[in-house]
Amino acid sequence: MTAARPLRDRADACPGALQTHPAADGALARVRVPGGALTPAQLRVLSAAARELGDGALELTSRGNVQLRGLRSGSEAELGDRLAAIGLLPSATHETARNVLASVLSGRAGGLLDVRSWVPAFDAGLCSDPRLAALPGRFLAAFDDGRGDVAGLGADIGLLALDGRTVALLLAGTDTGVRTDPDDAVALALAATRAFLDVREQQGGTAWRVAELTGGPPRIAAALGAARSAPVAVPTAPAIGPAGVVPQDDGRTALVAVVPLGRLTAAQAELLAGTAVGDLQLTPWRSVVLPDLADAGAATDLARAGVVLDPGSAWLRVTACAGRPGCAKSLADVRADVVTAVARGSLPAQGARQHWVGCERRCGRPSGGVVDVVATGQGYRVTTGT
Ligand code: SF4
Repeated sequence: MTAARPLRDRADACPGALQTHPAADGALARVRVPGGALTPAQLRVLSAAARELGDGALELTSRGNVQLRGLRSGSEAELGDRLAAIGLLPSATHETARNVLASVLSGRAGGLLDVRSWVPAFDAGLCSDPRLAALPGRFLAAFDDGRGDVAGLGADIGLLALDGRTVALLLAGTDTGVRTDPDDAVALALAATRAFLDVREQQGGTAWRVAELTGGPPRIAAALGAARSAPVAVPTAPAIGPAGVVPQDDGRTALVAVVPLGRLTAAQAELLAGTAVGDLQLTPWRSVVLPDLADAGAATDLARAGVVLDPGSAWLRVTACAGRPGCAKSLADVRADVVTAVARGSLPAQGARQHWVGCERRCGRPSGGVVDVVATGQGYRVTTGT
């Protein structure tokens, strides 16, 4: 049985850096960070903005983006100016469409090729095409270097390296059979993105995602006019990302710091920025990668500051929605309750992978097998399901 496609009678309302969302605890801004790549200077500016304009923390999202919450009234313009000054707002018209995931540690540890250069090239192509400003804020691209970490995360447009010279085009998470070589992969992804808008227009212009189109993937693939090979199975994305010390192929070391519930305090962000020796990478698993370190010596200080480098930590298996006070619908201060449960070692379901929410909407529920812990007003109901 196929899932019913949602009927879209309005444009998506995804927040951006300029188009903020009015939450119960103040305005919420979402800053797109294509590929999760941030310089230490950019992280410092985000941290200062969180301290001075928001609630003092940065939220990491499952798309490797950053949110600022509790923004004081009227601070949107100042936030926009600060972001633009450090290159985090290259296009006011395309900002919400710049959702790009890239393999974690690509070019540094594992993978079949290095996809790091694809991200800025795709982003530049997207921002320079006025028509692509019409992309919905839910649109997502994912560039997988063959390790299979992001290809299965349900992106609209995906590139998956099959070997060092062959890249597969994925649409809505399935292989189209269209192939290209690494040098032409970004152009193909941009062509597929434009074709998505064409097919969307033909079907009334309301769909937010490729999967919401009737026959979306085959129609988009046909519009590209490329020869097709036999499709391959797309790897399922891991439920839990890497954590801790990762030896790089060049002998250096990467540290992957998991941020409990994705809430990175300004002090933690400043410590990460001060420890990094080059670009950092935000991951879809709400962690921050510090690559190219000489050794793992910084791990102790980072762990002392509250980020998690133990791959066996319960924090790798727990996610939560905003809850109170950020969401008016919430029946509980979900995050505070999770912190208490982790500290006491009293997570339900024997600490299985779980998602805590303040109401039945179950926002932010990760894909795959996960236990739901739902606030009822008198405690929590624990259910396992899909
Ligand atoms: S799940 Fe409910 S309480 Fe949590 S953020 Fe969504 S609407 Fe709010």
